[in-house]
Amino acid sequence: MRVAQLGTGTPEVAVVAGIHGDEPCGVRAVERLLRDKPTVNRPVKLIIANEGALEAQVRYLDEDLNRAFPGDPDAETHEGRLAHELAAELEGCLTFSMHSTQSHADPFALVNGLSETAREICPQLPVASIVDTTHFSDGRLFTTSETIEVECGLQGSETAAENADRLTRAFLTAVDVLPGDTVRTELPVYQLTDCIPKKRADQYEVFVDNFEQVDPGAAFAAADGEPRVAEESFYPVLMSSYGYQDVFGYTAKKLEVVSEATSGSKA
Ligand SMILES: [Zn+2]
Repeated sequence: MRVAQLGTGTPEVAVVAGIHGDEPCGVRAVERLLRDKPTVNRPVKLIIANEGALEAQVRYLDEDLNRAFPGDPDAETHEGRLAHELAAELEGCLTFSMHSTQSHADPFALVNGLSETAREICPQLPVASIVDTTHFSDGRLFTTSETIEVECGLQGSETAAENADRLTRAFLTAVDVLPGDTVRTELPVYQLTDCIPKKRADQYEVFVDNFEQVDPGAAFAAADGEPRVAEESFYPVLMSSYGYQDVFGYTAKKLEVVSEATSGSKA
């Protein structure tokens, strides 16, 4: 794990990249900040988390770090020990953590419940929506410090790296680390309701677009040509053919739209 800081004093804000080793976009954004060394109004901690997995270009070495929190200093896995160390580094920090996916090119934010902070910050980020993972937060970074995660785009793409850069700067501006103003937009909120398991097969297909409503009776995916049909309507989120080992992704329901009017005063 690499830990650096811009500005002096004890940071209350942190940016984390490389929770997953096969998602290099956030690492580039953090490295760029370390190279550019912008003048900051308040200190920020910058962390590149799973250097071992990044070097090996794999999601994780022993177990998924974003399911390993709070971790344990005596854990048998690399990620179990790392989760404990990372949680200690992030204590007391509002944390911004970057990911990328195989499911969706446009950036979106993920939060564990719509806190005041989430309502305040997310509309200032260049994202298209907010996903509330409340029912699926076990072991995630969310559970150890107040965290806003972002999906920056498609894994390994140049666009995801550029998005990571824009997202990080918008976040740091929204929390007054960087000077300047942000643009506020209205954001729909989707809450994850269920995961969509997939059985062992050689070939997987997904027939629907993420965040586009699927109607009852529609075939939304297939495993070895055998279709999966929606029983009730849902919004697919983080859904892809090969992104996860055991699930296609998640079903979600649309909750509300977070707008300027509901997003209190500037923190
Ligand atoms: Zn990730």
